[in-house]
Amino acid sequence: MTPLIAHLSTTVSAPQAPTWVRLTELGAAVLFILALKGLSSPKSARRGNLLGALGAGVATVVIFFYGTEYYGEGLSNLKGNLPFILLAITIGSLIGWIAAKRVQMTQMPQMVALFNGVGGGAAAVVSVVEFSAPTANESKAALAATVFTVLVGAVSFSGSILTFMKLQELMTSRPVVLPLGRYITSLAGIGTIAAAILLVVDPTNTLLYVLLGMSLLMGLLLVLPVGGADVPIVISLLNAFTGLSVAASGYVLGNTLLIVAGTLVGASGTLLTRMMAAAMGRPLTNTLFGAFTAKAITASGTTEDRPVKSASPDDVAIMLSYARKVIIVPGYGLAVAQAQNTIRELVELLSAKGIQVDYAIHPVAGRMPGHMNVLLAEANVPYDQLKEMDEINPEFAEADVALVVGANDVVNPAARDDKTAPIYGMPILNVDQAGQVVFLKRSMRPGFAGIENELLFDPKTSLLFGDAKETLTKVVSAVKGL
Ligand code: NDP
Repeated sequence: MTPLIAHLSTTVSAPQAPTWVRLTELGAAVLFILALKGLSSPKSARRGNLLGALGAGVATVVIFFYGTEYYGEGLSNLKGNLPFILLAITIGSLIGWIAAKRVQMTQMPQMVALFNGVGGGAAAVVSVVEFSAPTANESKAALAATVFTVLVGAVSFSGSILTFMKLQELMTSRPVVLPLGRYITSLAGIGTIAAAILLVVDPTNTLLYVLLGMSLLMGLLLVLPVGGADVPIVISLLNAFTGLSVAASGYVLGNTLLIVAGTLVGASGTLLTRMMAAAMGRPLTNTLFGAFTAKAITASGTTEDRPVKSASPDDVAIMLSYARKVIIVPGYGLAVAQAQNTIRELVELLSAKGIQVDYAIHPVAGRMPGHMNVLLAEANVPYDQLKEMDEINPEFAEADVALVVGANDVVNPAARDDKTAPIYGMPILNVDQAGQVVFLKRSMRPGFAGIENELLFDPKTSLLFGDAKETLTKVVSAVKGL
């Protein structure tokens, strides 16, 4: 056994904890794992979410019944502070409940960023308190864990709040590169790590607050240069950071469940970050630091006057009704318009005419991983009609019509052809290979990445302007009348 593991097992396995506490905690840990398993498929996601919430509830309740004895003097004030603790839980639960009820599905990434930041911030605050407490465990390993939690938790907090502001459009969502930004970030990084090491060697309260301030600054410096389509990857990365800081705070407090839950979040967040970076077709370093080397983004929200071909709902209905194979490409705009039921109705009508219709699902379509799957599941679209990008891409060349409903970046050929585009390298749906392309959107505005889409100007492309729900409803009526 290595010294660290030996230390972990002595600190963490509280010998005085009775069997029922340990078994309950084991049960909660199993619930967390089952929750992750459930969340891996839209069919079981709701159940997975409930299991996770149940695990968290059990973990919280155990502390009330066995907190003081189990965790020793660190929580010995639990009983004296009970009214404050209950008040904090009530206020927090109310805010969480109301926010979750009110949030639109399209605003989910902001909410995840905000909640994630609060988690990281809480872990950092717990460690600051533990550090300052006279009863703090003085072993160097425990001190290192405390310092790690402060550093990573604070980075996650400030980074997540900035991400929230970008997604909520409280500030520009474009990359912000400070003059000499690369050097400032490198210096701040070196300074933060140096402060952390010094703090472990010679712990003082002043140095602790210096580390806290520098870590908060690091979170801002890391997120500022990330923009547009890369923001979701950063949320996932910060989520992994929060998991790690929570796991370390579990070690500081001697709470096994926090270690388990934090490690699960850290590991799944890291996997998701890697998968999203792969879906965007770029290494993570490029996402985080690409803006320091990239050329300025030249594309703007407005386009110069170039002709586009617009179509009426009747034109689109005819095009679809006389096709043999149609591929529907849903995107963020479908979620904004809440047109999932209308598109399902259209697909049912076309299928009844013997037309082969499939949905093409891009991994980052919409504003969160799995967004389109969840949206279409809500409208009871059968899962076997949803085809992932790799499966459907070879089929576009055989499709007579690709109907793009509120998608833009995920079909933008600039990702393939334009090395200066911020989405360059991201695999896209090969919509441009279909016989005819129809875009349903409200205007010529670009998508999330803020870049123009050449496909809109292609001679085989038609645009049906308007809110997707309204235009689709008209197309449905026109198809019925044919
Ligand atoms: P985009 O944001 O690229 O495009 C959405 C399109 O929908 C726009 O062209 C917009 O045009 C149109 N639209 C918006 N509202 C409506 C409406 N009511 N009716 C009709 N059309 C509408 O979306 P994509 O799905 O193609 O791409 C997703 C982007 O979001 C990618 O850049 C991705 O990186 C990023 N992202 C992805 C996340 C994920 O995990 N899935 C998370 C966060 C960001 P107009 O305004 O003219 O109507």
